[in-house]
Amino acid sequence: MDEKDWKYHGEGNKSLVLSHVQLSRVLRLLKYPAEDSENPPQTVEQAFRQIQNIVDFSSNVMSSLLGEKFIHSGEVVKLPLEFVRQLSIRVQHQRPAWRCDKVMDIYSGCALCLPNLTSPVLHQPTHTPPLCIEIKPKCGFLPSSKHVSKDIKTKVCRFCMHQHYKVASGKWRRRSLYCPLDLFSGNRQRMHFAIRHLIEEPQNNFKIFKGGQCIYSSKEGSDDSLDPNSLLHHLRPYFLYGNNRINTTSKAVLNDFIQVLVNALLSGGGGGDGGMVTERQGEGRSFCEASHFNKERIRHGSQGLPSDSVLFRILQTQMLDTQDIEGLYPLYHRVEQHLQDFPKESIRTRLQIDGPYDEAFLEKLQKCPTEDDGSVEFAVAKVHQYRVAMTAKDCSIMVALVPSSEKEEDDEGQRQLRDFLSSRPPAFSYSVSILDLDPKPFDSIPRQLRLDQKIVSCYLRTGGALP
Ligand code: ATP
Ligand code: ZN
Ligand code: MG
Ligand code: MG
Repeated sequence: MDEKDWKYHGEGNKSLVLSHVQLSRVLRLLKYPAEDSENPPQTVEQAFRQIQNIVDFSSNVMSSLLGEKFIHSGEVVKLPLEFVRQLSIRVQHQRPAWRCDKVMDIYSGCALCLPNLTSPVLHQPTHTPPLCIEIKPKCGFLPSSKHVSKDIKTKVCRFCMHQHYKVASGKWRRRSLYCPLDLFSGNRQRMHFAIRHLIEEPQNNFKIFKGGQCIYSSKEGSDDSLDPNSLLHHLRPYFLYGNNRINTTSKAVLNDFIQVLVNALLSGGGGGDGGMVTERQGEGRSFCEASHFNKERIRHGSQGLPSDSVLFRILQTQMLDTQDIEGLYPLYHRVEQHLQDFPKESIRTRLQIDGPYDEAFLEKLQKCPTEDDGSVEFAVAKVHQYRVAMTAKDCSIMVALVPSSEKEEDDEGQRQLRDFLSSRPPAFSYSVSILDLDPKPFDSIPRQLRLDQKIVSCYLRTGGALP
């Protein structure tokens, strides 16, 4: 292991990701709050277990709900501590300042090794590098649980309400006009509209990678809005075609880009353009009153999502949250109470509160009875369902686009001629994956209830009144 072969790739709230300079691999390391940096909050064994739990949860639970074809669970690896320390020093200056409230785990030497989804192997280095688009779509439906106490929650989606809270609390300077309900609608116009707003204000919901390098993302706290010209500069070579080769307008380039992305999101997940006509599920679930999409523009109603699409699978899994946090919290409390009344470790283990995330865990949540019989088993199953839904509300989709004409035609001249004569947008082959499928801890549920209350009251105070 040579630390010089690895470089900073990105990070989220819980982990920091390094990529290999040649191989299509990443290492995902845990992060700790900076105040714990002298004193690791868990032992090596606990760190190893935590990462093994992530692998198990992804491969045994989420993959069966979301579809194996989208999931890469990876494996736990043990790294030399000296290697990890050197790496942590080397990447420190590349980390965004606003993420530095946490430090990389340099004590356990444990990491998750995954395929690098931003530089897929199908890409040949001599050709145009693949474009990879990462979308963190967030929750795509409005709750219909009878436990919801505030009417606004059934009209305005969580993401749109949360935006007001994030701006009010100073996390972001500008509100994003992206609405997940538009993205999950299955209606091409609404999806197009949603993606346009992701591009305009990506926050932590949208990133673009070219040849494995992030070329477009938000810089939190910074005042400079993103430069659309630099994005167009990157995209233009991928979307030149036909007689418009010279003067393809910026608008056309962006439209084509979004079009290709919408196709990939509605597809079965792999392969090229077109593909089979798939069964579409239901109407677009609903409409968020905060969305700026003009309802009158929905021409022929909503088509719903194809049942083999990544968005459909994610939405279905999110909808395992049937109670809403307000209905779930009393069930969480029932489990808590039971664990206090019977404080034997074996009870916690039998109920699989902290795993293991195996087939039995999946069965517990899939075989949950519809009626509450007052039992702790019912409560646990609902809590498990809720936690799985939380993971699906927090995951990311990675769409890798490879210009497909290059795969078939080796003769560059011929390709250019064909592209020139064609008046259709260039074809791409794409692959779609889902990443960031960590289990959400059992004790995060009370925090979820408090956050929900804060977001709703902030929205009622400020949001509804704002234009
Ligand atoms: P969050 O705050 O969203 O929960 P996290 O801390 O759980 O994030 P990830 O989302 O898994 O961390 O990873 C952080 C970033 O690293 C991702 O947004 C993505 O850009 C990149 N990344 C993660 N896994 C991979 C992968 N397998 N291939 C390529 N890039 C990856
Ligand atoms: Zn919304
Ligand atoms: Mg993430
Ligand atoms: Mg995460």
